Amino acid sequence: MRPPPLDRQSALFLDVDGTLLEIALRPELVRVPAELPKLLDGLAQQRGGALALVSGRRIDEVDWLWRPWRGPAAGLHGAERRRADASDVPGGSPADRAAAAALDRSRPALRQFALHSPGVRLEDKGMALALHYREAPDREAAARDIAERWARQECDSLQLIAGKMIFELRPLHHSKGVAIAAFMAEPPFRGRRPVFLGDDTTDEDGFAEVNRRAGLSIRVGESGEPTAAGYRLPSVDATLAWLGAERAA
Ligand SMILES: [Mg+2]
Repeated sequence: MRPPPLDRQSALFLDVDGTLLEIALRPELVRVPAELPKLLDGLAQQRGGALALVSGRRIDEVDWLWRPWRGPAAGLHGAERRRADASDVPGGSPADRAAAAALDRSRPALRQFALHSPGVRLEDKGMALALHYREAPDREAAARDIAERWARQECDSLQLIAGKMIFELRPLHHSKGVAIAAFMAEPPFRGRRPVFLGDDTTDEDGFAEVNRRAGLSIRVGESGEPTAAGYRLPSVDATLAWLGAERAA
């Protein structure tokens, strides 16, 4: 079902890859159309700054992609967060330290696996480890196998997310839903109705969170996978059109 028109008073939460940007063969190859940072700026201004990017990428990468736009953001599926007042939420809690230690234990095996699997790449994000097999789809089962093994071994502090051609180990206690809830407790998000757009498994926590708050949850893409999202938009282009972008031809 297509979502109703975007309410200018809402709090807007946006995933990046697969939602605002077409997914590229590798994360570093994505293209940000020139008009998009301006679109974010306009949407943020309409709602008193209540717009945050909520990505699986690190915040410094998000900033680089969207320069010169730099606003509230959650990175690494919520493990990093920058508030609307530009302050960073400090990491280093006991749960963060336990997850970092678990990632340290998992890293060598995943690195070895990638090294011996042509086309598979290990993206080391620090607080998350992502095995990408987009360039070696025949390695999916083997990649799943090793990622699941480490997720089981470190199940006290890590969880496995199976995304689009990616298996990612990340801290158990962070999620996009937790990040959205944290933003919603702070100005200028507080008191607004949340709207979240995402395209992948890792966005499902975010959909559940905005549903709990009677917000709008929108899954982008035509995967047909089951989703908690209340609405769907078929593509990145449809999403940008819904958000009000004037696309260059
Ligand atoms: Mg995405």
